[in-house]
Amino acid sequence: MLIDFNQHPDIGLDCDVCVVGSGAAGTVLFDMLSKAKLKVILLESGGLLPTLETQKLNEGFLRLNGRPVKEDYTSLVSYRQRSLGGTTNLWGGGCELFEEVDFASRTWVKDSGWPIELAELEGFYGEAKRYVEITANVFDERLWSVLGIPPPYKFNIADVTTSFTVKSGFLSDHGYLNWAGPVKFGRYLNSPEVAKSDSIVLYNATLTNLNSDGQGTVHFGEICNAKLDKRKVRARIFILAAGGWENPRIMLNANRGAGIGNEADCVGRYYLGHPYGCPAELICPNKAVATELFWKFQYYKVGNNRAQPYFTFKRATQERYQLLNSTIYLKGSYDEDSAVRKAMLLRDQIKYGGISSAKISSSDMALLLSDLDDLLANAYRSLSISGVRARMMEKIELNLVQEGTPKRDSRIYLSKEKDRFGINKLVLDWHFDEQEIESMYRVYKLFAATARQFGWGRVQFRPEADVNSNNPTRGLREAAHPSGGTRMSNDPKKGVVDRNLRVHGVSNLYVCGSSVFPTNSWVSPTFTIVSLAVRLAKHLQGLKI
Ligand SMILES: Cc1cc2nc3c(=O)[nH]c(=O)nc-3n(C[C@H](O)[C@H](O)[C@H](O)COP(=O)(O)OP(=O)(O)OC[C@H]3O[C@@H](n4cnc5c(N)ncnc54)[C@H](O)[C@@H]3O)c2cc1C
Repeated sequence: MLIDFNQHPDIGLDCDVCVVGSGAAGTVLFDMLSKAKLKVILLESGGLLPTLETQKLNEGFLRLNGRPVKEDYTSLVSYRQRSLGGTTNLWGGGCELFEEVDFASRTWVKDSGWPIELAELEGFYGEAKRYVEITANVFDERLWSVLGIPPPYKFNIADVTTSFTVKSGFLSDHGYLNWAGPVKFGRYLNSPEVAKSDSIVLYNATLTNLNSDGQGTVHFGEICNAKLDKRKVRARIFILAAGGWENPRIMLNANRGAGIGNEADCVGRYYLGHPYGCPAELICPNKAVATELFWKFQYYKVGNNRAQPYFTFKRATQERYQLLNSTIYLKGSYDEDSAVRKAMLLRDQIKYGGISSAKISSSDMALLLSDLDDLLANAYRSLSISGVRARMMEKIELNLVQEGTPKRDSRIYLSKEKDRFGINKLVLDWHFDEQEIESMYRVYKLFAATARQFGWGRVQFRPEADVNSNNPTRGLREAAHPSGGTRMSNDPKKGVVDRNLRVHGVSNLYVCGSSVFPTNSWVSPTFTIVSLAVRLAKHLQGLKI
């Protein structure tokens, strides 16, 4: 059943499993556990759609390296959504596989290493594909042979390779225009199947406290609706799936601020940013080289999905140059004189000024009409399949995404200020260090060597990346991928949850989401979050609770 807690404050609230949060993690847990005949109550703080009031509950404070920041490197409010489906209502759908190196304890990355290996997640990635709607089976350079085309360049500087990001959501037979878009997980909850189920998705229900009376078992959770009706939820198992920033916040606020599972003072610590941005550009010798390169590294149709090759670096290279696991992908701008660019300008005029404001010269109109194939190819974004390529400018953005380094002082903690339910707001203090900056420069240096080898041009840093600039993050921001804060470790002194995602020292509390990541790769988190949720659901089924 899908129930509004604002309308039904007297509903019965006893269950086998209480899941907190209806994003990617919570939805999968609800789906699998309720189908396993368990009585599940999923609590979602937001409603069916986001409102200013529910989004306000996401407010908090930002610091960088211990200091309050004037310029935001992320947004606690707009980078997540409180409503059914959570932040999957906003996500871009990029899915990649974590790599073996991400799970390894690496000498050049302090405090790296997961208590599980990639092999232990592989089977669960397989099941996770159904939820994110992808069919691709490989995500590395082997995908070129699946596509039936040779890799566009044979990198004889053995360092550089390609990995693919596959977009969630299927393409129809009509191609890109009918791409369904990234899966919004709320659709698995607002469904006829759930309407008939005994399990309950309770929205407008914010978990405000977990109560364990200082013992090793959660007795009940307290929830509140917009009218400030308060109730208790009793369950045999509680699972926090409230998102990367919120899982640690809930744990720190538990037991009326005394916290839970925090004997080793690890909750909120080892927060990993996901540095990304464009501190450098590739200046190609001419438009023909830029166009050729750009389209070779754009989307390809893979089964019913689309996939884009990214530049990545082999494990041996990472070790040799002490690199953080990183990727570079290309973003170009259409040539000012291309039909696509003219059509985009016309589109913007109509969009923002109405049809009467549309102005186009006769020569531009001639260009639009004569280059219809170019336009259509662009519209379908299937250029690498059709072979038609819109002309690009010489300058190509080199976007970087890299893993963050695990640091105890990089953390989420509680502010004294409270939200409307009386829960302390969070303070996010992201620590960005020299290793992250150094690795960024080295990755671009390796890319520059490859660019020279193939005659693609030269790499040029933007002013904010300059060593003398006052920009502490060198132009990188924190992607909307908050990780760490309830990290996974076999050692209760070094982590918050064990390899099965159970909170150390608490018999019936689990955490699922990117907050459990000990390290976070360059890879986007959601596909791995979904795999961990599948794995946790199976683990709990195995316990026969
Ligand atoms: C613009 C943007 C683009 C992105 N693109 C990508 C991408 O391409 N690829 C990728 O992998 N990831 C991407 N992400 C990240 C992705 O959205 C998240 O990784 C994913 O949604 C996390 O799932 P989750 O279930 O852990 O948390 P969420 O989706 O954030 O869900 C958490 C839920 O918990 C609820 N909640 C919080 N506190 C409480 C409480 N106290 N009581 C009850 N409920 C509560 C929230 O309302 C929310 O619905 C993107 C994010 C953004 C903002």
